[in-house]
Amino acid sequence: MIQRHIGVVGGGAAGFFGAIACAEANPACIVTLYEATAHPLAKVKVSGGGRCNVTHSCFEPRELARRYPRGARELTGAFSRFQPRDTVAWFEARGVALKTENDGRMFPVTDNSQTIVDCLLGAARQAGVKLRLQCGVKSVQRLPDDAGFRLTLTTGETTTVDRLLLATGGNRSNAGFTVAQQFGHTIEPPVPSLFTFHIDDPRLRELAGVSVEEAATAVTGTPLKERGPMLVTHWGLSGPAVLKLSAWGARLLADRAYRFTLRVNWSPRFNTETARAELERARAAEPRKQVTTWCPLGVPLRLWERLVIAAGLSPTAPWTSVPNAALRALAAQVTEADFVVSGKSLFKEEFVTCGGVRLAEVDFRTMQSRLAPGLYFGGEMLDLDGITGGFNFQAAWTTGWHAGRAMAE
Ligand SMILES: Cc1cc2nc3c(=O)[nH]c(=O)nc-3n(C[C@H](O)[C@H](O)[C@H](O)COP(=O)(O)OP(=O)(O)OC[C@H]3O[C@@H](n4cnc5c(N)ncnc54)[C@H](O)[C@@H]3O)c2cc1C
Repeated sequence: MIQRHIGVVGGGAAGFFGAIACAEANPACIVTLYEATAHPLAKVKVSGGGRCNVTHSCFEPRELARRYPRGARELTGAFSRFQPRDTVAWFEARGVALKTENDGRMFPVTDNSQTIVDCLLGAARQAGVKLRLQCGVKSVQRLPDDAGFRLTLTTGETTTVDRLLLATGGNRSNAGFTVAQQFGHTIEPPVPSLFTFHIDDPRLRELAGVSVEEAATAVTGTPLKERGPMLVTHWGLSGPAVLKLSAWGARLLADRAYRFTLRVNWSPRFNTETARAELERARAAEPRKQVTTWCPLGVPLRLWERLVIAAGLSPTAPWTSVPNAALRALAAQVTEADFVVSGKSLFKEEFVTCGGVRLAEVDFRTMQSRLAPGLYFGGEMLDLDGITGGFNFQAAWTTGWHAGRAMAE
């Protein structure tokens, strides 16, 4: 058997999956994984609040791909060959059981990300992957006659490999992007995805922790809209509805320097007209009751009180004293409240990068570059990213696995 040298750059989820898949598929491959820091799998370790949300229990490739604001089309095919069911089986075969939470997110049953880190380190060791820590790849040169690549390492050494997987993540300063560009690849400008909205508004002040089970949100003047749970934070608004908007609108909102108007319907089973009619019924049914003591539209009371004040009413006013114009204003506060967003913040420190290596330049059957034979890509350094829920790791497992298998052939 001909020995083949494989280099994998980046000891994250995608790099480990690629290195292991390659070494397991072809024992004649000598696979070396280069990690710039002393801490491989650092993001896996801190992910999911220390529990690692490994994947999502969505087993239909087309449906799964719809959770990716960037990369949906390319990932559909890739998922048809390695998807969450395969991820679950992969970890199970190596002794790690995953469990599914009510919202579909999947975690190790230990609720400890170290289980996943240990599993990947163990599987790499078992497969014979050589792990080089504190050993970054500084630059890459193609050898004459397409005979592979020469890597210059941060330790000062040079080495040659036949095939090379770049899996250096989404950080714009990493050398992976420079190498990709050097081989002719286009880098879609990296901007953050998955963030919460800064809003300073008297209707939300000191309401941190108040949540609404289902709200409808939209960015005014754009097609961006989402529904889902919403949470008031110290700085503004968060929750799945906001995070999904931030992911789908990552580039558009960056272009607007994160300054825009957010329209919120706090009770989307009503529109302004049906909400007004409901308020009118409440006024007729309970004329003596104080408006702020109950909300006929199902808005949490602390928030409802703020909306009552914003509609120009006294919080102690009884329903009978509310004129028709104020009913309309109150219905509008519930169903079409505008908030001025003035910036963004991270969501529990979790973020992913929108942007990276242009997808059209990569063959998603193998993850090989269409411009530089022998060069492969995996994970977040590609211009693909998902919403929260385990989708970002799934993209890293899938692309890493395909790259590893293809390099082994
Ligand atoms: C706090 C946090 C929590 C998250 N939680 C979740 C979650 O629960 N579920 C989920 O699906 N997603 C989660 N994500 C997103 C997920 O972690 C990433 O999408 C995923 O880690 C990307 O994997 P990767 O291998 O492509 O890149 P990375 O994990 O970023 O790995 C890249 C590696 O390459 C190394 N490197 C860079 N340049 C070089 C070089 N020149 N030479 C050698 N090595 C280099 C880096 O040091 C790094 O170790 C979270 C992200 C964050 C920040």
